[in-house]
Amino acid sequence: MNKMQSPERRIVVLATGGTIAGTAARPGDNVGYVAAQLGADDLVAAVPGLAGTPLETEQVAQVDSKDMSFDIWRRLAERAAHHLARDEVAGIVVTHGTDTLEETGYFLQRVLAPRKPVVLTAAMRPATALLRDGPQNLLDAVAVAREPQAHGVVVVVAGVVWDARELRKTHTYRLDAFGAGDAGWLARVEEGRLRRQRDWPAGEPLGLAFLPVDPAGWPAVEIVTSHAGATGLLVQAARAAGVRGLVVAATGNGSLHTTLEAALREAQSAGIVVWRSSRCLAGAVLPKPDDVFPTAGTLTPAQARVELMLQLLRA
Ligand code: ASP
Repeated sequence: MNKMQSPERRIVVLATGGTIAGTAARPGDNVGYVAAQLGADDLVAAVPGLAGTPLETEQVAQVDSKDMSFDIWRRLAERAAHHLARDEVAGIVVTHGTDTLEETGYFLQRVLAPRKPVVLTAAMRPATALLRDGPQNLLDAVAVAREPQAHGVVVVVAGVVWDARELRKTHTYRLDAFGAGDAGWLARVEEGRLRRQRDWPAGEPLGLAFLPVDPAGWPAVEIVTSHAGATGLLVQAARAAGVRGLVVAATGNGSLHTTLEAALREAQSAGIVVWRSSRCLAGAVLPKPDDVFPTAGTLTPAQARVELMLQLLRA
């Protein structure tokens, strides 16, 4: 079959829940809703602009993303890998909650690093809201997934395309609730067209084979925070519970309260891997020659935790 005859390649929408699939009893209620109520087909049906676009849908999970789990991550990565391997699939769209988007996006990029686009999208308002953002975000996400030159895991919300590895949720309520620290946006979607600024995410995939099927097999890694009056209490509790890693959300450029630092040094001596990230919304933790704990670079504490888990699984 020559190119002229070949059918248009399709987009697969993998739905996982979130506010984009949420409903409230009262149409004007933007906060008192229940996430993860509508199915993948309902989300697509709410977007008139998608009529005629070759799409497939699959419900991979149905959760508020605050409850995202290793189990769902593994299944989502597997389903995405399955569809990406199909010649007739141009790209994937994942509908998700905004709360843990930066973690799921980071995870998917590290394990899949796909040569086709995997586009995560979400909404800050439920499907019943007067000013619902889900349908436009889904339409934009499909437009990005159809872009021939797009690849890697990216996130599209409020007309902005972000590199999933750089994403952070920066606002609790606004429709444009995301940022990428100093890195800024990759592209914008304007009336279905992309305006590109930077390169798409690239890298070597870690693959899926090393991910435990049993969620209990994932290494325990906890996040502790440095702050005024910090103690070693949570570090000691984590040690007693048998964690394998700790990510500290440090102040500023990775500085730590002396009391917390002492507890973390003891944990490290006991074989627990300790990484430093920052509570700041932008910037890397810059390394110094006398550092006791490695820096997690520009990763948010939640992303650093994902990376440390992946490294512990592969060690
Ligand atoms: N709690 C919701 C979720 O993450 C918030 C949202 O989607 O905006 O699923």
